[in-house]
Amino acid sequence: MGDYFKSFPDASGNYGDFGGSFIPPDLQREMDKITDAYYSISKSHEFISELRGIRKHFQGRPTPVYFAKTLSDECGGRIYLKREDLNHTGAHKLNHCMGEALLAKYLGKKKLIAETGAGQHGVALATAAAYFGLECEIHMGEVDIAKEAPNVTRMRILGAKVVPVSFGLKTLKEAVDSAFAAYLEDPVTSIYCIGSVVGPHPFPMMVRDFQRVVGVEAREQFFEMTGEHPDDVVACVGGGSNAMGIFSAYLDDEAVRLYGVEPMGRGPKTGDNAATITYGKPGMIHGFKCYLLQDEKGEPSPVYSIASGLDYPGVGPEHSMLHDLGKVRYVSVGDDECVDAFYELSRKEGIIPALESAHAVAYAKRLAKEDPRRSILVNLSGRGDKDIDFVIAKYGYR
Ligand SMILES: *Cc1c(COP(=O)(O)O)cnc(C)c1O
Repeated sequence: MGDYFKSFPDASGNYGDFGGSFIPPDLQREMDKITDAYYSISKSHEFISELRGIRKHFQGRPTPVYFAKTLSDECGGRIYLKREDLNHTGAHKLNHCMGEALLAKYLGKKKLIAETGAGQHGVALATAAAYFGLECEIHMGEVDIAKEAPNVTRMRILGAKVVPVSFGLKTLKEAVDSAFAAYLEDPVTSIYCIGSVVGPHPFPMMVRDFQRVVGVEAREQFFEMTGEHPDDVVACVGGGSNAMGIFSAYLDDEAVRLYGVEPMGRGPKTGDNAATITYGKPGMIHGFKCYLLQDEKGEPSPVYSIASGLDYPGVGPEHSMLHDLGKVRYVSVGDDECVDAFYELSRKEGIIPALESAHAVAYAKRLAKEDPRRSILVNLSGRGDKDIDFVIAKYGYR
């Protein structure tokens, strides 16, 4: 790796003008302890080799890179998929959950606490807790509990306690507030495990580092298959963890173009999308600075996407900086184009993608049609089993 990772974040968790940590002093003291422990433990031989064993024997890594030939023939270009849908539990999230839970074990913690929106992070963390024999408490808005019943059941089967959140809009933002409050009540025996490259330092850094395995594998696999590096690397961006994972391997390659795909939802009107970098301005949410969809008072705006994993009004601080540096191009894809890609990948390749990941596939199709000489590597962040009932109810068979 080149110089990039030596420079960002700085010692206070800043990525240029973004990131940092803006939280109450008692919470800050706990974060500082986690930061110090992370720096020493994550570099120890024991930690590294235990995590490597987990990835191989429990998660089933490395996940393959697959050349999507039929889709490529259809669009022109060559489209390759990094198959994070084949990671255990069906998405990339387990990569950072196993890392966070392993860190908790080394710190002697007994309980993992987190928020979840659609339930994907909750399921991944409940899986990690079961693996390590730790308690797990997942805070979830009542609206989401009603919408995402199968994931609530999964969490409970895995032994997690699901705490319903009944204030405010009763969705993700309130779930984060509730989980932070629970963590503050017991920061000695519990640890907060955030679900993306967001939140106060050190979370954006830790989650990125645990997701780097995706990029490290993909870079080597793609090179082995083709004898070159891809022209374009494409990933969807909610908070931005799967994108940071795959981008991390190419940040020092000027020739590789990186694309972060944001959800345009139903269109550009406020409340109809979650295209944070496209429409947001610098602001603050959940203890860190980033691009933010906000009202005149700086309060987070309501957001929407067909993919619940992407509808967050903020975005990782590192993405905010990478945008300003011009290192990553942030683009957007709406619901309809996403659903088209969802069906096309299912029918043409036999892979049902998560609606989140289908945003990245849709953008790759656009790139391939624009210039058939290009080779495009897509991070297929997860599988779509969770989305099938919703897609059929709303769009029918195509
Ligand atoms: C949660 C989720 C995302 C969005 O999260 P990021 O942190 O932006 O990666 C994307 N894809 C899938 C399958 C998810 O479950």
